[in-house]
Amino acid sequence: MADSYDIIDHSFDVVVLGAGGAGLRATLGMVAAGLNTACITKVFPTRSHTVAAQGGISAALGNMEKDDWRWHMFDTVRGSDWLGDQDAIEYICREAIPAVIELEHFGVPFSRTEAGTIYQRRFGGHTTEYAKGDMAYRACAAADRTGHAILHTLYQQCLKHQARFFVEYFAIDLLMDEDGACRGLLAWCLEDGSIHRFRANMTVIATGGCGRVYESCTSAHTCTGDGNAMVLRAGLPLQDMEFIQFHPTGVYGAGVLITEGARGEGGYLTNSEGERFMPKYAPREKDLSSRDVVSRAEAIEIREGRGVGEKKDHIHLHLEQLPPDVLNKRLPGIVETARIFAGVDAHKEPIPVIPTVHYVMGGIPTNIRAEVVRPTDDNPDAIVPGLMAIGEAACVSVHGANRLGTNSLLDLIVFGRAAALRAAEIIQPGSRVREANGHSEERALQRFDRIRQSKGGNKPGEVRPLMQEAMQSGFAVFRRGDTLKEGLDKLLALRDPLERVTVDDASLEWNVALVSALELANLADQAVVIAHSAVARTESRGAHAREDYHQRDDKNWLKHTVAWKDDDWNVTFAYRPVHLHPLSNDVQSFPPAERTH
Ligand SMILES: Cc1cc2nc3c(=O)[nH]c(=O)nc-3n(C[C@H](O)[C@H](O)[C@H](O)COP(=O)(O)OP(=O)(O)OC[C@H]3O[C@@H](n4cnc5c(N)ncnc54)[C@H](O)[C@@H]3O)c2cc1C
Repeated sequence: MADSYDIIDHSFDVVVLGAGGAGLRATLGMVAAGLNTACITKVFPTRSHTVAAQGGISAALGNMEKDDWRWHMFDTVRGSDWLGDQDAIEYICREAIPAVIELEHFGVPFSRTEAGTIYQRRFGGHTTEYAKGDMAYRACAAADRTGHAILHTLYQQCLKHQARFFVEYFAIDLLMDEDGACRGLLAWCLEDGSIHRFRANMTVIATGGCGRVYESCTSAHTCTGDGNAMVLRAGLPLQDMEFIQFHPTGVYGAGVLITEGARGEGGYLTNSEGERFMPKYAPREKDLSSRDVVSRAEAIEIREGRGVGEKKDHIHLHLEQLPPDVLNKRLPGIVETARIFAGVDAHKEPIPVIPTVHYVMGGIPTNIRAEVVRPTDDNPDAIVPGLMAIGEAACVSVHGANRLGTNSLLDLIVFGRAAALRAAEIIQPGSRVREANGHSEERALQRFDRIRQSKGGNKPGEVRPLMQEAMQSGFAVFRRGDTLKEGLDKLLALRDPLERVTVDDASLEWNVALVSALELANLADQAVVIAHSAVARTESRGAHAREDYHQRDDKNWLKHTVAWKDDDWNVTFAYRPVHLHPLSNDVQSFPPAERTH
């Protein structure tokens, strides 16, 4: 049946999959370097999740107070609980400064200081003087709509450079050679139902995170990590997937985000006794401590009976003490979100919040040139030819076990640019594009067809919540051997229903049910890897907090988890060493130390 699909062929120097901040920055760099580039996206570019980013993008510009990229680097290493690679972290923190200035020159409408420079606010975990000084003013912000400002500007720049967009094309699978190189991908045009073969000398995955594996998350419904699942199906691994970030201030019941910038502007948290509890847990950084620290503090307050509300199951975020013009000028979107999703007037009353899944630290392992790596017996950094990954889909790793706020937008921009720089180095524009030898295309089409014709089970919308509930209860802020095992068993028991969903309608034009089924299959692939990786790591580090293994265990676990998943849902592991040395002599390395706040 699979051979009954007519396929439309395209050939490009580069194919970028995804038009969020990462994909657009890469596309822009590629076209500016003269590479014939296609950017493929399942939603209109400016609807990518990056548009929802609120609080800011970090760079040690020092516009408000003195700052230094080395302090930014230390904070990021410490925030990562020493799992981040220090060469990559040096690269991102150092490049942050020119990268943000470049964004300004592209036309991003940043908020301004009195002096006319880019406005910067405080954010969790960002300090000065290697955490010995005050909190840093490092988050460059366009009010509380920074992602919106960046994404629209990048899209306009791409249009100016006449980048080629394939909008509302859903990528199905990678085209891989038998010898391990990537030669492009297959995509389905949602509008007219045609199938397209995109061949390219470089394929760049920029498909974002998979927050929707969970029941309650801040990310868009489209955040299903499709590229990561495609990578797993191509026989390549994902890295550090056990590290899932819970943001301390998702709106209770709705999951919508209230930016950490709200606490950066002076907001604080209280429990049912009206107590500001954060100083108990983090005397120095208080409400602006790292996200894993604040989320755990909230979970403990709730567990010990000091949650607010009838069910004592959430926390209050106070912004009403802030001057009205700060709220109106710096946090207008938050005031609106609080009104719409929590029904409160943030000028007058606290906002009900709860730790909510927000970001996936893990992803496709890459080096700092954005090239995908796959560890082999003799080389932990072996490169997969023809394949790059950037943005939330990738794991460079700059975020290690816990990402600092504002470091993701930065990651998109710095590594989107790095991908383009590398591609321009290794690809001759217009050079011959090879075809994939082997059977990956046939396998991809067969799988697509099987899901399209699938009958006999429940609909995707009925099975998905079961999986999300298993993940939400089993792989939460706090984890324990028995509850992790329970979560994993629940998930494994869903294998049959997940693989046998019913797609009512086999048409190819605007078939939302089929999109849903494909996305669900992608989510399931990642859920399995997250679950196994969490069970395997017997220590507490960053966002992975185990009640049965309280301590960080550098002797056994100062290493990246690398996980492969096969079609039978077996997961196998290898480990990669953490890079503990910086790139240059301009900064010292930061040897693993206790994380204090
Ligand atoms: C509410 C919210 C607020 C945030 N605020 C901040 C902040 O203030 N600062 C910060 O640093 N970080 C923030 N983050 C995190 C950050 O915004 C994200 O990590 C980042 O935007 C991800 O960007 P991306 O380019 O990797 O992917 P996305 O922006 O998610 O884009 C993914 C792209 O891939 C495409 N795609 C996916 N699958 C397919 C497929 N199968 N076929 C074709 N196309 C596909 C999509 O169409 C889309 O264009 C926030 C996140 C959220 C959810």
